[in-house]
Amino acid sequence: MKEITILGAGLVGSLLSVYLAKRGYKVSVYERRPDMRREKITAGRSINLALSDRGWKGLELAGLKDSVRKIAIPMVGRMVHSVNGSQNLQPYGKEGQAIYSVSRAALNKLLIDVSSEQTGNRFYFNQRAEIIDLEKGNIVFDSNSLIPSTKSDLIFGADGAFSALRHSMQFLDRFNLSQSYIDHGYKELTIPSGKNGEHLLHKNALHIWPRKNFMLIALPNLDGSFTCTLFFQFDGPISFSSLKTNEDVSTFFLEYFPDVVPLMPTYKEDFHRNTTSSLVTVKCFPWIYKDKCCLIGDAAHAIVPFFGQGMNCGFEDCTVLYELMNQYEEDWNMVLSEFQKLRKPNADAIADLALNNFIEMRDLVADPYFLKKKNIERLIADRFEGRYISPYQMVSFSNIAYAEALEKGKAINARLEELAAVEDVEEAITSEEMTSWIDSMFPSTPITNH
Ligand SMILES: Cc1cc2nc3c(=O)[nH]c(=O)nc-3n(C[C@H](O)[C@H](O)[C@H](O)COP(=O)(O)OP(=O)(O)OC[C@H]3O[C@@H](n4cnc5c(N)ncnc54)[C@H](O)[C@@H]3O)c2cc1C
Repeated sequence: MKEITILGAGLVGSLLSVYLAKRGYKVSVYERRPDMRREKITAGRSINLALSDRGWKGLELAGLKDSVRKIAIPMVGRMVHSVNGSQNLQPYGKEGQAIYSVSRAALNKLLIDVSSEQTGNRFYFNQRAEIIDLEKGNIVFDSNSLIPSTKSDLIFGADGAFSALRHSMQFLDRFNLSQSYIDHGYKELTIPSGKNGEHLLHKNALHIWPRKNFMLIALPNLDGSFTCTLFFQFDGPISFSSLKTNEDVSTFFLEYFPDVVPLMPTYKEDFHRNTTSSLVTVKCFPWIYKDKCCLIGDAAHAIVPFFGQGMNCGFEDCTVLYELMNQYEEDWNMVLSEFQKLRKPNADAIADLALNNFIEMRDLVADPYFLKKKNIERLIADRFEGRYISPYQMVSFSNIAYAEALEKGKAINARLEELAAVEDVEEAITSEEMTSWIDSMFPSTPITNH
């Protein structure tokens, strides 16, 4: 059996190590950071994440669904906050469907615990991989690491958006790589809990304050607080760089987010203290080198966070890889080449969907034409109950391939635009033509639910 090394004990590397152990492999995981189970997490580093169906499927296969449900808060829709303080809940799907807010640290710790305690995998912390010899399987760690180097038959790079394995693969002939930053960055802020530990906003929603070019969002935490993220331009007349003093910050918040100010007693201090981070999309190909190296998770496909799918997509990578291991057993050439063939088009599709969703979240959710189309979509969903699946549902509440969701989403949008121009929408929706369109779009796709 191969000796397998995983670089990165983040969400994807830790889950992957559990799957590999299930197939009987001996796995060593090397992580650049200290053991997070013993460290205090610094404020301002994306504290909670939205978990949806693809992520749940990955956790279920690792036997972790029930433990994660205990630390996850369902969010049934987006609560849109307008400047005048009014709130409007837009459900994500039908009744019973929700995405879940979960603490990144709690989830990651759970995965490391399960992997190290229940499978015997070995984790080495404070080990930063620097140079990887792809052919020989040699990994050289930086000078601060206790172990200077190691050798392995197969290396997985689950080492995130700035992967060391990917860096070494960059020097391969015909290796394609693109990396693009958007003009917006993000900063985390906090709405603390009320006096009795209660949530000060609707607990079961993802809150959004869309302001056209920028937005604030808030996800609930178990302790009654909300982690807020301000997605904002780096530069320009109203931007991170233009808000220099406490007065600038308070003028900005009072103008755009007046209802949040009373809920955030330390927003000015937090704004200056917490880091501003950038948002990158990374696409590359190939993801593998022979049967010796493979990129997975953000290392293969970092995306912007606006569909809440980066981790979910990485977990789906793991389930697809596991299914291929079951299918091709020890034939790693087949496993890895099929893996990249299956996943690459889907990773590209979710990267595009995530960029599009930024425009929807920060701007369109408050746009009358968009809301008109949403209403028509709701009528269609009612009329074709159980048959029609919205693009959001395809991504978040199903395992339909992302590439298919992207294509179907375009067709649905075109149809909604046609219907928005029709005088009698209700009649158009009951037409035979509409029924055959639904038949062709959704031959027999059940919606999964958690
Ligand atoms: C603001 C924000 C919000 C997000 N929200 C969501 C969301 O709601 N839902 C969702 O599904 N996704 C979300 N994501 C995306 C999600 O965080 C990532 O897709 C996910 O963390 C990817 O997991 P990973 O294990 O591939 O990479 P990472 O989580 O980046 O883990 C990589 C690990 O490798 C380690 N490492 C790095 N370099 C080395 C090295 N040289 N040697 C050894 N170890 C190394 C790192 O320390 C890290 O522990 C969000 C991202 C951001 C930035």
